[in-house]
Amino acid sequence: MASGTLYIVSTPIGNLEDMTFRAVRVLKEADLIAAEDTRRSSKLFDHYGINNRVTSFHSHNIRARIPALIAELEKGKDVALVSDSGTPGISDPGSVLVKECVDKGMDVKAVPGPTAAIAALVVSGKPTHKFLFEGFLSNKKGKRRRQIEALKEEERTVIVYESPHRIIKFLEDFRDICGERELAVARELTKKFEEVVRGTATELTEHFGRKQPRGEFIVVF
Ligand code: SAM
Repeated sequence: MASGTLYIVSTPIGNLEDMTFRAVRVLKEADLIAAEDTRRSSKLFDHYGINNRVTSFHSHNIRARIPALIAELEKGKDVALVSDSGTPGISDPGSVLVKECVDKGMDVKAVPGPTAAIAALVVSGKPTHKFLFEGFLSNKKGKRRRQIEALKEEERTVIVYESPHRIIKFLEDFRDICGERELAVARELTKKFEEVVRGTATELTEHFGRKQPRGEFIVVF
């Protein structure tokens, strides 16, 4: 029997309206949904009337879950993979499962949609014709500084994911290493407190240092 298809389904990065018609249909029609955070996804599923079978698939159980998902696919079932937000596999679990399926010659299809990195890039004002997606830098100070050092001469636009408690540290390290170059920081894209602030690392440190930074951050430089 032919194996089923693994669908990599992109979901909104904040605003529930950023869901494609196809994503809704695929999530309704799949035999099983594998979700990074079943509770968080249930908000989206409720909104779109998706009442499908859901299993969890997150960074702590990937290895244990893969055989069960592969077994479903081998039985000819279609599995839809969703992450907390955006595109599965982009700085969240997903690529390991895709690799397993590809190695087994199984069918993998993308259901494209939002990804925070591209949303931040296109509003940053930085060149978009060539870019480098760095994901999250290390949370270890020494390593993070070496990573920034390595990006200092990068000619392509660089996109970095950051957490609210590390954004100030990132900006301070960036200023020490790269000087007063202009960056764009995108926060809470598509959500209520969305903002994109552009300026030097010093200006941005002042801006975000006024009160405890909150939400999800992306730096583009
Ligand atoms: N798979 C997701 C994607 O396609 O963008 C990324 C998941 S990663 C675990 C989460 C990080 O993405 C956050 O820490 C933040 O850097 C960035 N991010 C996600 N949603 C965002 C948003 N609405 N605004 C700004 N950054 C966001």
